[in-house]
Amino acid sequence: MLVSAKEILDRANKENYAVPAPVVQTELNARVAIQEAVKKNSPVILLVPLIFDYDVDLFGRYLKQLADQVSIPVAIMHDHGSDFETAIACIKAGLSSIMVDRSQLPYEENILQVKELVKVAHAAGVSVEAELGHVGMATNYEEDCEKNLTEPDLAKRFIEETGIDCLAVAIGTAHGAYNHGQQPTIDFDRLKKIKEVTNNFPLVLHGGSGTGDESLSQVAQLGINKVNIGCELFTAAIQTIKDADTGGNGAYALTNLISEGYGKRLAHFFDVLGSTNKAWTALTLDKQVIGVELTEDTIL
Ligand SMILES: [Zn+2]
Repeated sequence: MLVSAKEILDRANKENYAVPAPVVQTELNARVAIQEAVKKNSPVILLVPLIFDYDVDLFGRYLKQLADQVSIPVAIMHDHGSDFETAIACIKAGLSSIMVDRSQLPYEENILQVKELVKVAHAAGVSVEAELGHVGMATNYEEDCEKNLTEPDLAKRFIEETGIDCLAVAIGTAHGAYNHGQQPTIDFDRLKKIKEVTNNFPLVLHGGSGTGDESLSQVAQLGINKVNIGCELFTAAIQTIKDADTGGNGAYALTNLISEGYGKRLAHFFDVLGSTNKAWTALTLDKQVIGVELTEDTIL
């Protein structure tokens, strides 16, 4: 069931858990992400960052159909949208949510550009995420991330003036793989402060990969409601291929191995973030359509 990210995040916020938001590069990633969410009876938010050069019209329509085949809540979000035209193309393609990332612009300009797209997106029933502070790349952690954390005092006005549905915050995580031996330092007090000054607004963590289960579980308890994960899933997929016997006809297993590694890694995040068994619709159609064996405790 395709829903907006707002619908998923408002519930997660109220009930104090976070939902995994896996990056999907292909139809196969999307299918396995939905299958794992069905098995865990959890909502899920599929991320479509256009850095992968998709045909967004085709991919968007495909994802929408896939989401509508299951009865768990599935949102499809354009991740890190950087221009007005692409955001509109994503809305036209049927995505249910967009992220308007103007986090590298000055504060007032960030507000203006986000506000403009909020008006259009909301008119189309699409929810909007924006970012304040800046979550950079893990390979340049000190320069790109530690110096650009979200200022709690700026968050409240940003939310009020833009009209967004959820806010991505910079609290110490980073995108991609960290340099060898490096680990992110999470500013839990900053997160608590942001949640407090924004009157419990839905918050998002980018750069979930490499953060570690303990920290992720803690941020979910302190008010993060969506955790973006990409690198860790693709790394797991690559490791699964490396570990397999892919000689001779084993080569045919390539796409299955990608799905296996990606899916297994994703599965545990539902438990870590607390979204397992938080789907709010019955799963009667899922067994027929997607072939997942249901047990009594996965049915509401
Ligand atoms: Zn991100």
